[in-house]
Amino acid sequence: MMRSTLEIRHSDSLYPKVRNVIPAVEWPAFADDIDAITALKKRRNAVILAHNYQTPEIFHCVADIVGDSLALAREAMDVKADVIVLAGVHFMAETAKLLNPAKTVLIPDRGAGCSLADSITPEDVRLLRQRHPGVPIVTYVNTSAAVKAESDICCTSGNAKAIIESLGVECVIMLPDEYLARNIAAQTNVKVITWTGHCEVHERFGAQEVRQLRENHPGVVVLAHPECPPEVLAEADFAGSTAAMSSYIADQRPPRVVLLTECSMSDNVAIQHPDLEFIRPCNLCPHMKRITLANIRHALETMQHEVTIDQDVAVTARLAVERMLAVK
Ligand code: SF4
Repeated sequence: MMRSTLEIRHSDSLYPKVRNVIPAVEWPAFADDIDAITALKKRRNAVILAHNYQTPEIFHCVADIVGDSLALAREAMDVKADVIVLAGVHFMAETAKLLNPAKTVLIPDRGAGCSLADSITPEDVRLLRQRHPGVPIVTYVNTSAAVKAESDICCTSGNAKAIIESLGVECVIMLPDEYLARNIAAQTNVKVITWTGHCEVHERFGAQEVRQLRENHPGVVVLAHPECPPEVLAEADFAGSTAAMSSYIADQRPPRVVLLTECSMSDNVAIQHPDLEFIRPCNLCPHMKRITLANIRHALETMQHEVTIDQDVAVTARLAVERMLAVK
């Protein structure tokens, strides 16, 4: 549609925020969708929850709530809307549905999966329980609702140590991320039985890459996500969830920094700290990148794709998530 030269659109006011990471030539391709999504959110009484790994035009321009898995899970409980659009992957949309059973939860692309979530099935969990009778099963939120339903309690990378220690036992099974489990095991006296799942983004980082980054960028402060292999964390200056990395940067303000995690996270944090230098090795999550402005708009236009969970599964999976949220 032709615009009058005097007409100011909502998207016009947003560009200055993202201009350092989105070239001016690319912006018009986003602006129409941003304005349409803003209008559709009002019409549908909808909110958009966006994970830290979403691209800046989603994270900074259409999202109402942003954060890591734990923040999204928590905030999803207080959402005052009829519709939630989850800009993230499928297990996150399921978690939002678990905590908001009366709301319509949409995921813009049904194919937005996760290598960790796909690494384990409910049958696997039942077999582990048989093999280790009486040992509590702590399940990372990066799993399907059906796997959560077989678990005793959930955790995120940000609260895994606190969750494990809250159980007051000598041994736990921690699923499905092997590296997260090993990294947490190194910080606690609780024995941790692991599974063999890996995040296809974080498992690609290596210790040699960290050494090379330090050589190429003297003085760089290295922050690593605990889904990275233990030898990467051993080379890093700090390890923590995406929320913990954001807090570290806000508090410590390292002049030159690299985040060993999904690469949109660096873009999103860099926008908040334009005076710091971000070194950006880019490991993309192909699942997160299936979410675009275009398919968010389509989801709100058509009310697709609705996320539903079998009632029996939902009841027990919700318990595992609520037990996690109850741990302070
Ligand atoms: S970044 Fe890793 S853990 Fe997160 S959705 Fe992608 S594959 Fe799954």
